[in-house]
Amino acid sequence: MCNSFNKKFLDEAAKALEQDTDKDLIDHGRFMDQAVENAITGVLNNEGGPFGCIVVKEGKIIGKGNNKVTSTNDPTAHAEVMAIREACKALKSFQLDDCVLYTSCEPCPMCLGAIYWARPKKVYYGCSKTDAANIGFDDNFIYKELDLEPGKRTIPFEQINKEQAMKAFKAWEEKEDKIEY
Ligand SMILES: [Zn+2]
Repeated sequence: MCNSFNKKFLDEAAKALEQDTDKDLIDHGRFMDQAVENAITGVLNNEGGPFGCIVVKEGKIIGKGNNKVTSTNDPTAHAEVMAIREACKALKSFQLDDCVLYTSCEPCPMCLGAIYWARPKKVYYGCSKTDAANIGFDDNFIYKELDLEPGKRTIPFEQINKEQAMKAFKAWEEKEDKIEY
């Protein structure tokens, strides 16, 4: 993690939020509708779970997604990840400057992480993670795993061969033309 960068990002996000207009507020219903519609379409097409998401920049939808886990055999194909990928592709950027994410349900820990890496300025969500748990999508256990020692997790994590692995970090540190993010 790069802490100095995070501070800069948070300051910029706070500034961007102050510039929200009344129109943004009026559009919330319309954008959430679109996210929910993506979720329902995905369910009806047997693409995956009932989750939809969109990414909006300057009032325009630049990325859409719905859950496609079961239809693509991709456990990472969550609505938020799909929408972030499409939006970043549209922006030709690895981060979602000045973007707002609307998701039909509170993001799971994986999507929460993806959102932080993508750095939109705000997230609006419809259903809560409790609502999701009530229909069989319980990700609360993953949040609990975060607090455990790596070796004590349900899927144990064990550190090995650090010196070997550090070679990649050395290569990064020494690279002069790297693209930092
Ligand atoms: Zn997710």
